[in-house]
Amino acid sequence: ILLLVTIISCKENKNTSSVKDTMHEAKIQALLQKMSLEAKIGQTNLRGMHSTESELPEKLIASVKKGSVGAFLNIMNLDYVDELQRIAVEESPNGIPLIFGRDVIHGFKTIFPIPLGLAATWNTQIVEKSSEIAAFEATSFGIRWTFAPMLDIARDSRWGRIAESPGEDPYLASVLGAAYIKGFQGDNLTDPYRMAASAKHYIAYGAAIGGRDYNTVNLSEPLLRNVYLPPFKAAIDAGSATVMSAFNEINGIPATGNEFLLKDVLRGELQFDGFVVSDWDSVTEMIAHGFASDEKHSAELAAKAGLDMEMNSEAYEHYLKELIKEGKVSIEELDEFVRNILRIKFRLGLFENPYRNKEHTGNLYAESHLKEAKKAAIESTVLLKNKDSILPISEKTNVAIIGPLANAPHEQLGTWAFDGEKEHTNTPLDAYKKVNTNFLFAKGLDYSRDKTKKGFQEAIDIAKKSDVILFFGGEEAILSGEAHSRANIDLPGAQEELLNELAKTGKPIVLIIMAGRPITITNIIDKTDAVLMAWHPGTMGGEALYEIINGIKSPEGRLPVSWPKTAGQLPYFYNHKNTGRPADSINYIPMDKIPIAAWQSSLGNDSHYLDVGFTPHFPFGYGLSYTTFKYENVSISKDVINFNEDLEIKVSVTNSVKKDGKEIVQLYVQDIVGSITRPVKELKRFKHVFLKSGETKEVTFKISSKDLEFVNHKIIKDAEEGTFNLWVGPNVAQGLKASFTLKK
Ligand code: BGC
Repeated sequence: ILLLVTIISCKENKNTSSVKDTMHEAKIQALLQKMSLEAKIGQTNLRGMHSTESELPEKLIASVKKGSVGAFLNIMNLDYVDELQRIAVEESPNGIPLIFGRDVIHGFKTIFPIPLGLAATWNTQIVEKSSEIAAFEATSFGIRWTFAPMLDIARDSRWGRIAESPGEDPYLASVLGAAYIKGFQGDNLTDPYRMAASAKHYIAYGAAIGGRDYNTVNLSEPLLRNVYLPPFKAAIDAGSATVMSAFNEINGIPATGNEFLLKDVLRGELQFDGFVVSDWDSVTEMIAHGFASDEKHSAELAAKAGLDMEMNSEAYEHYLKELIKEGKVSIEELDEFVRNILRIKFRLGLFENPYRNKEHTGNLYAESHLKEAKKAAIESTVLLKNKDSILPISEKTNVAIIGPLANAPHEQLGTWAFDGEKEHTNTPLDAYKKVNTNFLFAKGLDYSRDKTKKGFQEAIDIAKKSDVILFFGGEEAILSGEAHSRANIDLPGAQEELLNELAKTGKPIVLIIMAGRPITITNIIDKTDAVLMAWHPGTMGGEALYEIINGIKSPEGRLPVSWPKTAGQLPYFYNHKNTGRPADSINYIPMDKIPIAAWQSSLGNDSHYLDVGFTPHFPFGYGLSYTTFKYENVSISKDVINFNEDLEIKVSVTNSVKKDGKEIVQLYVQDIVGSITRPVKELKRFKHVFLKSGETKEVTFKISSKDLEFVNHKIIKDAEEGTFNLWVGPNVAQGLKASFTLKK
């Protein structure tokens, strides 16, 4: 039904498209007039080149000379970049420069935490800085286009690509999405140290049924628009130069051949004026989907849907000419693709400066880059449990460093980090070795999936000689990312068994998890005293964790996804709807209750499982700190607001412990009654607040009816009159409540 809708009545339509550079448009027009049909088709061609040979393959040189390639991706031997560009500019018929794209996802050489970890910072400055540094390093190799950010909302931790996602919340993902674009692209794409971004994967790739990568997607249009679309809108509003179409089908139509999504929504409503690139072979994958009958048909469907550039597969190259001759695709349609592609090449300044500046070294792994990577790793780390405030320990504590991730330099970089070198990675063991001798080390398990117990005894022996066990466990990098979904998301291998054995020593256990997704720890958490979630923390993960564990820094992350008790609860997301069996007791826990414990035990009467209830292990937005924050006196500026008015919400937050600390104050809203049912809570704002010990600050938020809008069953976006609840608190499960009314 989604795809039958032809007239979109979203009030949000921008009536002014981003102002196109008229000079560029004139130049593009002039170029189009002299380009041959083959040269035009060439521009739509994004080629992979995997050869690491010392010589460029002859065939490739010939195609660039002919002008039949518009862009390259993931060239393994980066020394080829200059030479290929020279051939394109000096020897191809129209001298049109190539764009070199690459998966620069969470850093180029200096690797930052995986995107899900960056999302746990809830910090736009960190996200922006990380992408700025990634761009700075990558552009030194002539890479001016990144296949990032991934903005797929992820509600299922089984999905391997949740690691690359901004988490489950559309608001957080939108705010961070815009920050990624700003970091990669800067204010002006001609800046040679910045690169074009690609908001991907358009769209709803994260809604794969069962969390199995590439699986089909079934979504109502309001759900698509209220949850999956906002981060893309934010990225396009922030100027994302390109968009990548997704592998998946949505309600029966593959995203790559989806005219409604690519033309009506992306171009029409969102006013996107860059180019759309397919995902790897996603054009010809439409054959396996059962949507296209053969390669030629796949080219036709993609072209009719408005896909500008084809990644890897060659359906356009093989068949566009024929399709145009047969009148199935028009030359005007092809011209539009070329126009969109050339527009970005002009905006990047490639016509004036096709080559990288050879003096630009990228300052790979510069001190300043490592410092930012460490800061990001610190801010992304989430403290999940801290019994009797065992953390931080003191640097004088004798620790037993155990576990498969304690010294796994490649693994801690995480998925999509193929330019990061393990030789430059700082592991927790490295960090200890550098500054502290009070440790013993025994891996216990060689790698995260290791099931052998041969290392157990050595680990137990060192545990007995120490005061505290630091167990670095989790998942190797390869267990998350593309095509790496898991049905069971417990600690893999014999990690739980080893933790059980270590617990018998009676020594306190601090479990530090490095993984690409929340890991279900229900079976083991009682054996631990503290749990830190470090995600895959990147190049500087070791020092970051050393400083957190030893109290030099505080863990500051908050969960960007709900943390399930068991994979059987998935998909799980906090902003679900109520059923006919309300779950008030679950979704609102008064501040005076022992927070998480009380919350966990309340099974409520909502739709739940007999064995594990309904609530996750840790709620969205959750994260402890080395201090305690008290929320008091929530107040709102008015009980009733009309459609043009702002509502101001105030709350006072006190740091009640003798330690300075940062809190992330979160505002959630519930539209109690709607013309379609509404989520039980939705994040609308958040603020980072630094409080000295004993200090109180008043935190103010402002929202308006704009923030209360949603797309209804008539595909109209609007806010509706009625009563709303709001909560201000440290996570979605705790908060001080107030209510207000919206009136026309
Ligand atoms: C992934 C994309 C990636 C592309 C190029 C695909 O398999 O889905 O996210 O950018 O490959 O490497």
